[in-house]
Amino acid sequence: MRPNAVRDVHHWVGGKEWEGTSERRADVFDPSTGAVAARVRLADPSDLDVVVGTASDAYPEWRETPLGRRARVLFAFREIAERHKDDLARVVSSEHGKVVADALGEVARGLEVVDFACGIPHLVKGEHSEGVSTDTDVHSLRQPLGVCAGITPFNFPVMVPMWMWPVAIACGNTFVLKPSERDPSASIMVAEWLAEAGLPDGVFNVVHGDKAAVDALLAHRDVRAISFVGSTPIARYVYETAAQHGKRVQALGGAKNHMVVLPDADLELAADAAVSAGYGSAGERCMAISVVVAVGEIGDELVDAIRQRTEAIVVGPGDDAASEMGPLVTGVHRDRVAGYVDAGAGEGAELVVDGRGLAVDGRADGFFLGPCLFDRVTPEMSIYRDEIFGPVLSVVRVDSYDDAARLLSDNPYANGVALFTRDGGAARRFEREVDAGMVGINVPIPVPMAYYSFGGWKQSLFGDTHVHGPEGVRFYTRAKVVTSRWADPATRGPDLGFPTSS
Ligand code: NAD
Repeated sequence: MRPNAVRDVHHWVGGKEWEGTSERRADVFDPSTGAVAARVRLADPSDLDVVVGTASDAYPEWRETPLGRRARVLFAFREIAERHKDDLARVVSSEHGKVVADALGEVARGLEVVDFACGIPHLVKGEHSEGVSTDTDVHSLRQPLGVCAGITPFNFPVMVPMWMWPVAIACGNTFVLKPSERDPSASIMVAEWLAEAGLPDGVFNVVHGDKAAVDALLAHRDVRAISFVGSTPIARYVYETAAQHGKRVQALGGAKNHMVVLPDADLELAADAAVSAGYGSAGERCMAISVVVAVGEIGDELVDAIRQRTEAIVVGPGDDAASEMGPLVTGVHRDRVAGYVDAGAGEGAELVVDGRGLAVDGRADGFFLGPCLFDRVTPEMSIYRDEIFGPVLSVVRVDSYDDAARLLSDNPYANGVALFTRDGGAARRFEREVDAGMVGINVPIPVPMAYYSFGGWKQSLFGDTHVHGPEGVRFYTRAKVVTSRWADPATRGPDLGFPTSS
């Protein structure tokens, strides 16, 4: 029997919480204790009809709302979020497991997209050409699409939805968010703040659910565009299914980010970066470094410097200010990641730091796994091939820059990649030649600022546009070009020739 104290997480529809009609629910855990902290509603297709219907009904009025007024709602939201960001970070930490300081970082990066979207009056300006033909002018404009939907992963329950909804609603669309069912509460807090900021009911809605809810969104006649972020197999599925239903779609997938360290790199800087980017958020970041490629003679010293730092990481509950790394999101995921550590050791990689035996005081049932470091990993091993999404860092040793470049180009993922070097020529060559969407030079997690766009290449993104920034504005609007002539009466009369610019 479950204790009665476990709260339910409801949907948010039409400006208020909504229970929906489906009786299905999923457990939401507190990863640091392993206890069930809440139960989240799982929508069925009939619930989706209600949610999408609400967003459709809100669209005509929101679309007509002047740009400046839309921006002012976002400014007001920004103020509320800034005042209460600690509460939001604590909610994220309690369901995701990441330490509160890290959760605050994700809130800050998400709010940068809100800042960007506040500039919407400028961002959707069109172009005008006077006199393209006799008495004829042309101008272009960008208009919203209608109801847009976002389907998001567990690892950034605030930031990833904020890659989407601020830009979508600023452009005049209404939005349905289907967040991860593993950490659903942050989305409801955001919805409450948007209502408080004056966003009209029905413009921003949250529907919780699993595959059934996603499938209903992908097929729904009134959903015009789908933004997805999650693992590669689901990203591919979402891309193909949404496209079959005639929708605009951007689907960001998984990653296996490499950090190449050349022999001339600043060793201490590179070791700090590898450890921060490998184990921050317990490796549950799409931009986490999971492979360090040590080029040439730097290998021994680099592995030793990473080992020392890895052994010093303080692992504990996310709400303990002393913790640097929290637990993983669920017990199932922790066991899966630990399984990869078993496999890596079995396949012959050298396990330099083994986090499997870690015990956290008083938290025997928490989903903890200590940081693990492998050396002498090779490309055939499962720890190299698969996205592990946990605190497991692999070092691959190669002889030359060309060997490192070949490794990168053979990898099916291409989200972020980093190079550590003091050689400007090598850095310039790398940034020009590497096949990846986001490149860091002496920066391990090159997440673009909100006024650029975020996205990978190859199997890390299906679709044409990256998220937020200028590409986000393009994704959430469609172009219209108007050609107008105000002719002098003397020049009138039928002309069956094809129009030319004379
Ligand atoms: P996931 O793919 O399991 O889930 C993502 C979303 O899809 C969730 O909302 C989930 O409910 C839904 N979903 C899950 N299974 C589904 C199915 N069979 N059919 C339809 N929908 C389904 O991902 P996750 O475990 O929540 O998040 C981790 C993954 O997300 C990692 O692979 C990570 O690299 C990736 N990620 C990528 C980026 C990026 O920018 N490329 C950013 C963050 C996370």
